[in-house]
Formats: sequence, C-alpha cells, structure tokens
Amino acid sequence: MNIVEKPVTTLSPDLIARFTAIVGEKYAVTDAHDLAPYLTEERNLYQGHSKLVLRPGSTAEVAAICKLASETKTALVPQGGNTGLVGGQTPHHGEVVLSLRRLDKVREVDTASNTMTCEAGVVLATAQQQADAVDRLFPLSLGAEGSCTIGGNLSTNAGGTAALAYGVARDLAVGIEVVLADGRIVSNLSKLKKDNTGYDLRDLFIGAEGTLGIITAAVLKLYPKPRAVETAFVGLASPDDALKLLELSRAEAAGTLTSFELIADICIDFCVKHGPNIRAPLDNRTPWYVLMEISSQRDDARATLEAILERGFDEGIVEDAVIAANLDQRTAFWTLREVISPAQKPEGGSIKHDVSVPVAAVPQLIAEASAAVVKLIPGCRPVPFGHLGDGNIHYNVSQPVGADQQAFLARWHDVNEVVHAIVARLGGSISAEHGIGVLKRDELPHFKDAVALDVMRTLKATLDPLNILNPGKVL
Ligand code: FAD
Repeated sequence: MNIVEKPVTTLSPDLIARFTAIVGEKYAVTDAHDLAPYLTEERNLYQGHSKLVLRPGSTAEVAAICKLASETKTALVPQGGNTGLVGGQTPHHGEVVLSLRRLDKVREVDTASNTMTCEAGVVLATAQQQADAVDRLFPLSLGAEGSCTIGGNLSTNAGGTAALAYGVARDLAVGIEVVLADGRIVSNLSKLKKDNTGYDLRDLFIGAEGTLGIITAAVLKLYPKPRAVETAFVGLASPDDALKLLELSRAEAAGTLTSFELIADICIDFCVKHGPNIRAPLDNRTPWYVLMEISSQRDDARATLEAILERGFDEGIVEDAVIAANLDQRTAFWTLREVISPAQKPEGGSIKHDVSVPVAAVPQLIAEASAAVVKLIPGCRPVPFGHLGDGNIHYNVSQPVGADQQAFLARWHDVNEVVHAIVARLGGSISAEHGIGVLKRDELPHFKDAVALDVMRTLKATLDPLNILNPGKVL
C-alpha cells in the first residue's frame, strides 16, 4: 500500500485567517523573523519553510486546528522543543507548523499512584524538577532535556542515559491523550497498570513521530528518588573490556546500575580541545572509557561501585578509574559526555549514525565499522560513543584533518550504507533512539520487514487518510 495523498501546503490568506481565528492573532506566527526559529534546527542541517506557525493553548484548540486542516486537506507538522535529530519537526514543503509548546501545564502529580500528568509542551527538565519537588524521580534524561518536550520525547520514543535501568519513553508512559487527524480526541489518560480492554492505542502513537496523531498530554510514571548516586569514570583498553565490566557491574549492582556510557579516547581529545573548560577526568589516558552510575535507595551505592572497580582491577579489565568526589565532579563527568557531539563541530564535517545492536555485538560493530569507513575514506576519524548498556552507539565519523568539509559530507550516504549493512548483519537497528524522520525515510524499506512496513502504511492510511499529519516523514 502506498501513501498517495498530497496535502495542501500552499496557504491562501483566507486559510491563514481561518487557522488564526482558532488560536488568536497573538499565537499565530506569520512574521518572517518570528517564524525563523521554528524552521531550522540547532545544527542547521535542515532549513524548512512555512508561512504559518500555530501555537494553540489547549487540547480543544489542537482539535479545532486538526478539524480545519482535515476539512481543507492542509498539511501540519507537529513540533515540540525542535531538538529532534532526523528532520521530523521541520516543515520541508511549506506545511503549517503546529507548535505544542504552550501546552505546558503539569496537570497533576499523584504520589500515591506514582504518576504525573503532563501536557505535551512541558519541557523535560521541568517534568524532572516537578517530580523532584515531591521526592520522586522522573528518570528520562538526555542532553537536550533543557528544551525538548514530553510530547516530542514520546513521539520519538526517546532513550537517553538512564534507559538501562528505567527503559525508554514508551516504558515511562501509562496513559495518553491524542488528537486525531480529523480533530477527534482519544482521551486515555489512564493511571492503570493493568488494562486489557482491546488494542493498545497508546503504544501506537508513541514513536510515531507525529504521523498518526498529535499527542497533547500523557500520564507518566514516577519512581522513588534514589538516596545515593555514585558516578565513576573508568579507563579501559577496549570495548571488549567495557562489555566485561558491564557484565560484572550487572552481577554486582543488578537494577541499581542506572547508566553505562562508552566513550572513545578521541571524544576526550575533542572535548578538551573545544569544550567549555573540560579536563580529561583521568591523568592516564586509555583508548576507551566508561562513564557509569549506580543509584540506590540505600547507603550502599559507594561500596557497590568500589567493589565493582576493585574486581575490575583484579581481573585486569579496568586500567584506571576515578569515582566522583562530589556533585561538581559528577556534573563535570556528565558535561563531558554531553559535549561530545558539539565538540565534533570544530573538527569539520561529521557523518552520524544512531544505531543499536545486541549488547554483546557492540565491540564487533565498532571494529568492523571502523575498518570499513577508514577503507572507504582514508584518514577519516571514527568517534564512537553512546549507551553501551542498551547496545546503542552513536557511531559518528569525523572528516580527515584538512579535508574539504562539503566533499566529505557528500559521502554521507556511502558511509551510512557500509555502517548500516554491518548493523543489519549483526541483527541491529539503523535508528536506535532518534527516529526516522526524513533522514532515514528512504533507507527504511531496505532494513524493515516488508510486511511490517505494509502494516505501518495501512495504519497511516487508516488514521490519517488525507495524509495531513507530518507528510513525508517516516514512510
Ligand atoms: P521535536 O524535535 O520538536 O519533534 C521531534 C518529532 O516528534 C517530530 O517528528 C515532531 O513532528 C514530533 N512531535 C513533537 N511533538 C509532538 C506531539 N506533541 N505530538 C506528535 N508529534 C510530535 N534523543 C534520544 O532519544 N536520546 C538522547 O540521548 C538524545 N540526546 C540528544 C542530545 C542533544 C544535544 C540533542 C540536540 C538531541 C538529543 N536527542 C536525543 C534527540 C531529541 O532531543 C529527542 O528526539 C527529543 O525527544 C525530541 O523532543 P522535542 O520536543 O524537541 O521534539
């Protein structure tokens, strides 16, 4: 089944006026200067265009917008914090941008049910703070948490650094409220853990990247706030040793192992050179590092971490390690982790991969991909890092020193092709946590089971028969 509907992307003054009437003049953005921030993203990889951004303030307004869009076959691009990395939130063909940022209320925090009901535009860091204020943890955590939104997190099924212990965004949502393409509202803001009343619609909209409906609110899971968090920066000889350390840590720490991030030494080079006041955490440089964290309800986190590192030294897995002495040092470790991507920018072009393989295959992925990309482009510099505990590696490749940036970036597809072929052979995924958007849309049919893809197209045609919700994304 193919999606053939071509929605309207050319907006007449009359249509703009009708949409404007729904949100009010103040919240209909038409001025070129004011439109600009919604049309591009941080890295300037995508530049969109649109005459209209709508900023509704309620679910009812979102519903009215979808109803009118459906009646007039007008294309909509939902947008949250605009931090997505695959071009999904950008209006590439003049679509109306539907910004959910004004839906920013935390409707309820229920400590007895351990749930929090957030509107789609609540910024992730705000959700974390609200949970913290009632002595709970909302564990989703990622580099963009200061600006990404709950609606965007759910729509991309975001992962982040604590997915190892708490799961991805999908695992953290209990109920959901969604506006359909025709303006009807699916109101399923349930707090129930057990609810087997037919098909699970919640999971259909999570990870759909705004192509099946507009998420307007969700009931999220809260966890007890850990009493003790201990963080270590560990130096190792190889990804194989990192894997051994992961096994050992799981055996010792079980569910209290909350993060396990792999970092290649070249990342430290780039961060020290280009990051804001970044120092290498260990005096002795090693080829690889792990940033690991234990979070416990009891006072045993430090002892557990020390026991893991001691065993690691004894078994010849760990070469060097430091445990954060205080909050500042812990923050410094995590800042380093978060600036790896931006620190690549001054080194010229960087070709990205957000891939996952079974955890045990990560060393093989890194070894094979590195050999393949260097063979393809001699002198290019693999910069692998990521969530080893989830088998999710951001396998970035920086251009050769002194090479022409544009000529290097022109090889993006060739480099993706060799890396993704290895990923597929190892039983992995070409999109671990960032989604498909437009970046990987044309690649998806090569990697996704044909029947699964056909079912996806059927669902899209059923829920959005006029193809007005984020057309051209994912499928
Ligand atoms: P947007 O970028 O605005 O939108 C993303 C997608 O969701 C688009 O397709 C959009 O159309 C759709 N959408 C947005 N809101 C809605 C809604 N309410 N209803 C329906 N569709 C909607 N991602 C990870 O998974 N893990 C990481 O560790 C991680 N780290 C990052 C670090 C940095 C520095 C940056 C810039 C990004 C990172 N990301 C990461 C990617 C990004 O932050 C996530 O994808 C995030 O979940 C997007 O949220 P957003 O509100 O910015 O969504």
